[in-house]
Formats: sequence, C-alpha cells, structure tokens
Amino acid sequence: MGPELPFYGHVIDGVEVRSVDGAEFDDIDPFTRQAWATIALGSKADAEQAVAAARRAFDDGPWPRMGHDKRHALLHRLADLMEQSTDELAMADTLDMGKPITQSKHDVSRSIWNFRFFADHARMRTSDMYPMDSGHHAYTRYDPVGVVVAISPWNFPLMLATWKIAPALAWGNTVVLKPAEDTPTSVTILARLAVEAGFPRGVLNVVHGYGPNSAGAALTEHPDVDRITFTGESNTGKIISKVAADHLIPVSLELGGKGANIVFDDADLDNAVHWAIEAIFRNAGQVCLAGSRLYVQRGIYEDFMLRYKLAAEALVMGDPKDPATQFSSALASEEHFTKVSSYLDDASFDGGTVLTGGIGEGWGVRPTIIVDAPATARVVREEIFGPVVVATPFDTEDEVLELANSSRYGLNAMVFTENLSRAHRMAARLRAGTVWINCFFIRDLRAPFGGVGDSGVGREGGDFSREFCTEPKAVVMQITQ
Ligand code: NAD
Repeated sequence: MGPELPFYGHVIDGVEVRSVDGAEFDDIDPFTRQAWATIALGSKADAEQAVAAARRAFDDGPWPRMGHDKRHALLHRLADLMEQSTDELAMADTLDMGKPITQSKHDVSRSIWNFRFFADHARMRTSDMYPMDSGHHAYTRYDPVGVVVAISPWNFPLMLATWKIAPALAWGNTVVLKPAEDTPTSVTILARLAVEAGFPRGVLNVVHGYGPNSAGAALTEHPDVDRITFTGESNTGKIISKVAADHLIPVSLELGGKGANIVFDDADLDNAVHWAIEAIFRNAGQVCLAGSRLYVQRGIYEDFMLRYKLAAEALVMGDPKDPATQFSSALASEEHFTKVSSYLDDASFDGGTVLTGGIGEGWGVRPTIIVDAPATARVVREEIFGPVVVATPFDTEDEVLELANSSRYGLNAMVFTENLSRAHRMAARLRAGTVWINCFFIRDLRAPFGGVGDSGVGREGGDFSREFCTEPKAVVMQITQ
C-alpha cells in the first residue's frame, strides 16, 4: 500500500465534512496519471445540507445584515490569507488539471483580485439617486437575493469559482459552490481559508461531486435556491437553464467559445504572433476564450505562418510543476484527452493538413496548427477546447467578418491592425461579447463579460454582477416643502 492520500471534504456550515453516505472519489494528476488526493463524493443529501446551511445563514445569520464595511473587511481578510497561501492554491490547480505552475500562480493572483475588486465595488456602488422635478426623489436599493448556487468548470478552477463567489458574497448573499469533479481541491482550500478569516457559518459552502444525477443537478434543482451562476459547456447550460425556468429564477450562463483571431496585413506582426500563440496555447487551449480560428490576410499569410509555426514549436513543454514549463504535456484528464485527440484525424480536417503538432505522450496533445481546412470542417465549427488552431487566409474585411460571425458561438474575437478606423469598424460588426484589439485576455473587472449565441446568457463584471446578485428595488419618496 502506498502512502495515504490527502483528503478534501465538503465544507458545509463552516465545517469540513465527509459525505453523508461516506462516498469518495480519486483526484487524478493528469501528468503522472496517478491519484494524488481523495475527495468526498457528494450526492443529493450533501447538496441539501449545503443549501439548508446557506439558507439559515441568509435568513437568520449576520452576513446579509452586517453592512458593507464589515463584509468588505472580511473579504479583504480572505484575500490576505489567499495571498499567504498562494503556493498551496496554485499547486492544487496544477496537480488537479496539469496547468503550468506559473499560470496557476497567475490565476491565484487574479482570484485574489476578484475578492478585492468586488469587495470594493459593492461598497462604492451601493445606490443610485434620482432627484425628481415633481418634488420627490427616487433611489435604488440593491438588496441581496438569498442563496446563490455557483457551478464552475475545470479549466480555471480557482479563478472562475471566485469570479462567481466574490460578487455574490460582496452583495450579502450566501453561496453553495460545486466545483468541477476534476478540480476540487483549490476551492476546498479557499473555503478553509474563509473559515479561518472569520466568515460566519454557512456563508460559503463547497459541495463536491458530479453533474447529472449527482450534487450538481441536486443543487440546480433545489427549490430554496435564488440564483444559479454557471460556467461550462453550452449543452450543460441549456439543461440548467430549463431547470431554472421551473423555479423562475435568474441564471447567468458563461458557456463555450470558438474565438476568431483576425490578423490584417498592416498589423504589428511580432505583437500579433505573440498574442496568437497565447490565444490558443495558453493553458493548452483549454480556454473558453481561445483564439481557435485564426484568420490571416493573404498578403502576409506565408510570412505570418512561418513565424507562428516556429513560435509554437519553441514553446517549452514538460512537467507542469516545473516553473520553466510554458506548455503542459498533459491535458486535464483522460476523458478530455480522448475528446481533443478525436479531432486529430483526417475526417475532422475535411481536406486540411497538420502544419505542426499532433498527439504527444501520455494524455498530451502538442501545440497543433491545421491549415487548408474548409469552413464546414468539424475542427472549424466545433469547440475543441485544446491546443488546436485552424488557420485560414482571407482577402477583405467583409469576407473575414462573414467567416468570423458564422460560428454559433460568440464569446470573443481578436483583431490585429494598426488602422484605427478599421479597428472600430470591426469592433462594431463582430458578433461577440468581447473584442480585443491588438491584445488578448486583458480584463478590466468593471467591464461586461459574457457571450452571445451559444456562448451564454447574461453578463458578469462590475455593475453587471451587481444586477445579477441583487434585487434592485426602487424607493420613491415625497419631499415635504
Ligand atoms: P461541463 O458543462 O461539463 O461542466 C461544468 C460544471 O457543471 C461541472 O462542475 C460539472 O460537474 C457541472 N455539471 C455538469 N452537468 C451538470 C448538470 N446536469 N447539472 C448541474 N451541474 C452539472 O463543462 P466543463 O467541461 O467543466 O468545462 C468546459 C466548458 O466550459 C467549455 O465548453 C468552455 O468553453 C466552458 N467555459 C466557458 C467559460 C466562459 O466564461 N464562457 C469559461 C470557462 C469555460
């Protein structure tokens, strides 16, 4: 027998617990393909306990009533503790999903910023006031809604969970989070830190388990839940949306993507190559925002592709725990490896060819560039969610707009050009929730984030998260003269 593996339980009502029925599952490190931790496997019974704890904490506890200053202080205290635990949090994501450790550390700092930003934002954006000519004044109250269920995916385990938890908590709600089954540990550490920071019991609960017929479905179907915020696949989003409709509760859905990355012949090529590499090979392309469709204007196509291929081949592949690794030689799980590699066959390219890349060792896929695939090919139409980009030349602005906008997804697009007017024209005409000009992945948390079409419903960020996490109430008051 090997050494006993660390155990990560549910965190319910301020206590870390095993499942009601004692069930557990193995947490696999995709690089070693060995279990590195044991996780409590939640079921409906555990989900019910978590919702009940969150309900009590909201209905009778201090959290929604303590006022912004005290909540602000506790959220910043949690952020401080996260800072002190950066190495542990980052290693948890790296072991869970094979993310290179330098990228996991970046995600931790962004997760800390999620808490600091929404703590400050909620305290500063408490109300709007509307003086009326009639001698009345009206104002808005942003009251907390109750219990928020957050369901998160495995590709940015801590960062995307905190993106949902932080605004919900900052606005006075209580939360039940179900992380993805492949990446359960960093958010368990987070919930432990919330207890250490002095959060009241039941304010932040974490339940582990799967989606269908498991903890995930039990949480979304629970009648005592007031909001569901979900990030994951478009098909799962549709299921959750239908469940939420039965209870008439709002849902926020951040779903899949198939980002278009457009490089015009007047672009700064060094900059465009740099971001085109980041856009599809960061986190091995397991990014909703991945620039998986690359469109390059014909005049620079050959020159660009030469540089791009060399840059892709120069990425340092290896053990995700090694700080020198830029590109993990393992995808997040065996199931995901099987899915991504199913796209690396001739039928998926439909006449296209592999310029570089292909299947690697273990559960790895190397940085892969496909050329000459028609717009109808599976690799062009479907979200692969791996390090696979399809490059296509184009001639005109209208032509590339049609290609870019032909996807059922509409999460984001990137445009590389030094022509200011063209940049604005493209930003206006691209069907996407975010358009990056001459960059990628840069976020201001005040700006809206979300997608159109199959990429989602609703926006999160700044005031957009406030609208989702609160019940805005109008109060109209007569002023006696
Ligand atoms: P997924 O939909 O399989 O799972 C996401 C989460 O939902 C997991 O926690 C899972 O256990 C849970 N779940 C699954 N079925 C459920 C059900 N019936 N009821 C309740 N919960 C259920 O997605 P994934 O594979 O973890 O993540 C990858 C997907 O997420 C990709 O499509 C990617 O584009 C998308 N994504 C989108 C964004 C965004 O901001 N738009 C960000 C990251 C990832």
